[in-house]
Amino acid sequence: MRRILVCEDEDAIRDFVIINLQRAGYTSVGVSSGEEAVAAFLESDGNFDVALLDVMLPGIDGFEVCRRLRQHSQKLGIIMLTAKTQEIDKVNGLMIGADDYVIKPFSPSELTARIDALCRRIGISEGGGKKEDEQSLTSGPFRLDLKSRALYKNDAIIEVTQVEFQIMEMFMRNAGAALKRSLILKSIWGEKYVGDEKIVDVNIRRIRMKIEDEPSNPKFLHTIWGYGYKWVID
Ligand code: CA
Repeated sequence: MRRILVCEDEDAIRDFVIINLQRAGYTSVGVSSGEEAVAAFLESDGNFDVALLDVMLPGIDGFEVCRRLRQHSQKLGIIMLTAKTQEIDKVNGLMIGADDYVIKPFSPSELTARIDALCRRIGISEGGGKKEDEQSLTSGPFRLDLKSRALYKNDAIIEVTQVEFQIMEMFMRNAGAALKRSLILKSIWGEKYVGDEKIVDVNIRRIRMKIEDEPSNPKFLHTIWGYGYKWVID
């Protein structure tokens, strides 16, 4: 059973979310502050698949919770619950490590659809579906270990989230091909994703900061203006 950490200070919203998650077959733990969320995560030894984080909280805000959880786990799926446009801009602009966001007010079906899609992306669901014999994927100085789901550059490990890992896998399997943003969005976030294509750019920026020597002048992950991105290995 998938375990969801729900951090929301408004009791009515938290209860509503938890009831609907239980109805959808998830196990969830609700907390009402960021400090409690971090504590619950650590006490459980990171035993959560997804965290839903409200942005406006009484103590540390949802962005800070996201940062702290990300320090402990690259594997955890993180969805921000945002109320205002400014917060969405911040989710997009700050490289806080969130995988997705849902805008309040949201319907139970929208929320569970996003969680399901995220779980599929990060391979929490049954089996993972990778070919048994395929161990790793190499492209230039990069190697993806498909079993441990880790990225290496010149044999040094690079910490990536599972979503970033999937994007890297897509690029490395399609080296030299210009990939449309909408295609990347569909492949990684799923057909039914209702969010903005900007989430692709946010993740690309983050990946560049991790893999490029000069993120503003990328050697490997090129922008194709008005189209998308291309993975280039000389
Ligand atoms: Ca709040």
